[in-house]
Amino acid sequence: MSDIKSRVKLNNEIEMPLFGLGVYLSEEGEQCIEAVDYALNEGYRLIDTASFYANEKSVGKAVRQSSILREEVFVTTKLWNSDHGYDEALFAFEKSLKKLDIDYIDLYLVHYPVPGIRPKTWKAMERIYDEGMCKSIGVSNYMSNHLQELLSVCNVPPVVNQIELSPFSYRARKATINTCLENNIVVQNYSPLTRGRKFDDPVVQELSIKYGKTPAQILLRWGLDRGFSVIPKSSNPGRISENASIFDFRLDTEEKKALEKSDEGFLVCWDPGETE
Ligand code: NDP
Repeated sequence: MSDIKSRVKLNNEIEMPLFGLGVYLSEEGEQCIEAVDYALNEGYRLIDTASFYANEKSVGKAVRQSSILREEVFVTTKLWNSDHGYDEALFAFEKSLKKLDIDYIDLYLVHYPVPGIRPKTWKAMERIYDEGMCKSIGVSNYMSNHLQELLSVCNVPPVVNQIELSPFSYRARKATINTCLENNIVVQNYSPLTRGRKFDDPVVQELSIKYGKTPAQILLRWGLDRGFSVIPKSSNPGRISENASIFDFRLDTEEKKALEKSDEGFLVCWDPGETE
């Protein structure tokens, strides 16, 4: 059985924790610092921020203040949509690094496959990677077509594709997941709790009763048991602990399939499927 600190080897041999804390809508300042600090003390080892979340300063501060060694913590941030382009991407990375105020970033992701300019942006991502200020580079919200385009031109392939996933959008994302698997790209599952919107689903409820676990814990277990990295967000200490208490049970194949039965392509965030 894996635990909260279990790591996966990326395609560049760097190891990344499978489980982490998302901080979208964690407010810059006390709220975000306390959430990250609490999570690190609970055993979380991956923190997922983005320049768009406007809380990189707080994430960096909490990481710096923590007694946990820097090399044990994995910090992800992302390049925002208005920062695409070669020079723009280099500049955006510098800004994020400065705000985080840490020696290096573990993973820098292109937040969204903005049409037209993506290949230029990726060239800058490769330069950032080659210069060593960032240990790994990857993408987010890339569907199969975006990945194929990138893989056909890149020198450094992405290590991770961070996409929205739940049992209720799994089928719709199957082609993208397969492209990732075929190319040794780790799938990272954002909005894994469906922001609470599917907690009332009857199968979620049934499994919740069977295992004595909360709906949130059932959905997170589904993600891990499908082989994804999961990054639930919470700013609440009780829920940060609750979300991490999922390493003492597993869902079997039939249970995963039962959850996926009512898959109707349900998403709470972006649908990049239509993006050219
Ligand atoms: P989640 O599915 O993680 O849900 C977060 C919401 O659920 C918050 O409102 C949180 O509130 C609440 N919550 C957390 N735990 C529980 C619980 N145990 N019981 C009940 N409610 C709970 O949604 P996110 O969209 O935030 O996704 C997670 C992370 O993924 C983000 O924070 C971000 O880091 C990343 N992400 C990336 C995107 C991308 O485009 N790359 C897009 C969206 C997200 P509270 O804080 O009060 O607990």
